[in-house]
Amino acid sequence: MLLKRILKKKSERIKDHGDFVVTIHRCKRCNYLYVDEEQKIPFEEVGDEWKCPKCRSSKKIFVEKEIPQKN
Ligand SMILES: [Zn+2]
Repeated sequence: MLLKRILKKKSERIKDHGDFVVTIHRCKRCNYLYVDEEQKIPFEEVGDEWKCPKCRSSKKIFVEKEIPQKN
């Protein structure tokens, strides 16, 4: 099990049965996906001035989604 990798990111929460979720944020305008795991900083920690790299929308229009990962 990739426990080290899971503990590194607070966005990945271990569930009771050992599964965990990866948090992504999707731009409602262009469907750009911000995957916390692939970025240097989690979405919640990027500044308010952050803009969607694709359509320049503000981070306010992004919606959070949790994707369960199977071991
Ligand atoms: Zn966008």
